[in-house]
Amino acid sequence: MSATFSTAPRVLTALPLAIDPDEVLRFQGYKKSVDTPGPEVLAIFDEALALGRGLVAPRAVVRWLAVTRRDADTIEAGGVTLTIPDVGRLWGPIEWVAAAVCTIGDGLERRAAELWAARELPLAAMLDSVGSGAVESLAEYVNDLLCQEAIPLGLPVTNRVSPGYGRWDVRQQKSLFGMCPGDAIGVSLNEACFMSPVKSISLLAAAGARAKVDHYFSQCARCWMPDCAYRRMPARKTVHR
Ligand code: SF4
Repeated sequence: MSATFSTAPRVLTALPLAIDPDEVLRFQGYKKSVDTPGPEVLAIFDEALALGRGLVAPRAVVRWLAVTRRDADTIEAGGVTLTIPDVGRLWGPIEWVAAAVCTIGDGLERRAAELWAARELPLAAMLDSVGSGAVESLAEYVNDLLCQEAIPLGLPVTNRVSPGYGRWDVRQQKSLFGMCPGDAIGVSLNEACFMSPVKSISLLAAAGARAKVDHYFSQCARCWMPDCAYRRMPARKTVHR
């Protein structure tokens, strides 16, 4: 292992955040190019987007750690062992992992709760979807940032994975928080391993000279980093931050 990263947790604030309209409408149940929302839905979408933009406070904490042991289903780094089914085959020979916790804060969910209480249900539901779209976009951005840090060192970065998605047990949130505590950005875990604020995403990505990247979709196709010299394929679309 030649290239090295600082292994201290880093808090990132003032992050540029795009809210992808297609993503928000997907959370509302619309399938792109199949369902077209009508003018009433689009009016609620515009209202929720404007409201949501003023309520999000995107921030993240990220931490690179050297991998000290790995096998078919486990990765050990920073004295913590993660059990992720099939990770050895999916990611190949990784040398580093990056654990991260991202959040948009609790302002949006508190406003959505007020709207539910006031029976303004369509706007409340759309605002909740705006929050989901915003935190997804934030997690993508953090994945892209990790790639931009590692790839000039000759270390391609894998797609992110999160506890509770696919076959990775949600109870592993505790181990992931052991690697990268969320308290630096005000994110905590309850007994059921759910995060608070709700609009938060924890993630793990990995880097290695021979790491397998793009194992379930091309990260570059989703990456909006302009002028990246290492781009493997064009971005499918541009979402301005
Ligand atoms: S364009 Fe591709 S290689 Fe460049 S930062 Fe984005 S994901 Fe990484």
